[in-house]
Amino acid sequence: MSVLEKLTSADAITLEDKYGAHNYHPLPVVLNRGDGVYVWDVEGKKYYDFLSAYSAVNQGHCHPKIVGAMIEQAQTLTLTSRAFYNDKLGVYEEYITKYFGFDKVLPMNTGAEAVETALKICRKWAYEKKGIPENEAQIIVCDGNFHGRTTTIISFSNDENARKNFGPYTAGFIKIAYDDLDALEKAITSSKNIAGFLVEPIQGEAGVYVPSEDYLAKAKALCEANNVLFIADEVQTGIARTGSLLAVCGNCTCENQCEKQSSYVTPDILILGKAVSGGVYPVSAVLANNTIMNVIKPGQHGSTFGGNPVAAAVAMAALDVVSEEHLAQNARRLGKIFRAELAKYIETSNVATLVRGKGLLNAVVINDTEDSDTAWNICMKLAENGLLAKPTHGNIIRFAPPLVMNEVQLLDCVAIIINTLKQFEK
Ligand SMILES: *Cc1c(COP(=O)(O)O)cnc(C)c1O
Repeated sequence: MSVLEKLTSADAITLEDKYGAHNYHPLPVVLNRGDGVYVWDVEGKKYYDFLSAYSAVNQGHCHPKIVGAMIEQAQTLTLTSRAFYNDKLGVYEEYITKYFGFDKVLPMNTGAEAVETALKICRKWAYEKKGIPENEAQIIVCDGNFHGRTTTIISFSNDENARKNFGPYTAGFIKIAYDDLDALEKAITSSKNIAGFLVEPIQGEAGVYVPSEDYLAKAKALCEANNVLFIADEVQTGIARTGSLLAVCGNCTCENQCEKQSSYVTPDILILGKAVSGGVYPVSAVLANNTIMNVIKPGQHGSTFGGNPVAAAVAMAALDVVSEEHLAQNARRLGKIFRAELAKYIETSNVATLVRGKGLLNAVVINDTEDSDTAWNICMKLAENGLLAKPTHGNIIRFAPPLVMNEVQLLDCVAIIINTLKQFEK
């Protein structure tokens, strides 16, 4: 195709279909620009983004401060590897550990890598500190979990689509029901070889399942009582998404160095990704205190790109934005309005049955079977009406806009969503 010709949506879709592996099933919308809460397709149509790249773009598309930090660093030094020191990594490590209140960080790139890193640290701690016999460590995980796509991580997924024909699977995981303290207690006390409990404070991919009020605090207490590491995967829920800096922060909206309130749960290992960079660059992080992190010695774990100068500069700018623009407070306030408005409509609806979530991580359950295409069709209609969202697990639609949204925009979006749902009333 000539460079003078403009690529249409149909062209772009044909190219991906022909030359790309078919590992995703996207909505047929081709985007080429983003700014704040908006994205535009190649035909110039404007949309509200209600996925935010699975909560990576919490700070809004192309945030000038974050993009500026990236450009400046990219023109200075991009990658040294960890074979040498660089002048950005240490500064970033001090910044992010103080921001979240841990002794140390291990920098990686993607969420899945950070989860893998946490699992490796947990196992090593179990053998070297807890005294579990070698190769016997077990890590407890939850039904319906989503922690990424590596061979080990999919080994403990329930999603047949993610698992089937990718075996043999990695051993050493015990699966229990989510939001079930009895199941956790039984599993934790079933053996002396339990090393850790890996949990999402809210299950995002599963369909935005918010556990009972005291689940995380009591789960943490059970872990503590049994010398088991509590590992929080906040790749999707972290960085202000759920109305507090972390979902484990409970009801605290302080964005930085917060006073630990009663609802605050301190994980032994905290896993972050996605919005650590505001969706500008792949940056993930594993945070822990010295007694845990110091089990990792030179040569035992690493990544060529992990903690590179661009990642460090981008992450500091992205986390600055979260505090400067009070994104946790905004997410909390707008989330309440979103759920209240949707709940009011749902009372009289036969299309939607339920709205649930926390902060600006919400889902609407559609009144149809899990294998129906109603949720997909609603998302197609939402796109036509100028709002992009995607079904997760069949009949559930997740709504997660950038956290820089204002109230006028949110109410505009609520109207689009309700009017669209009304088109599907039976
Ligand atoms: C997205 C996600 C991951 C994986 O992150 P990638 O960057 O896609 O590897 C892990 N855990 C949770 C909870 C996620 O939402």
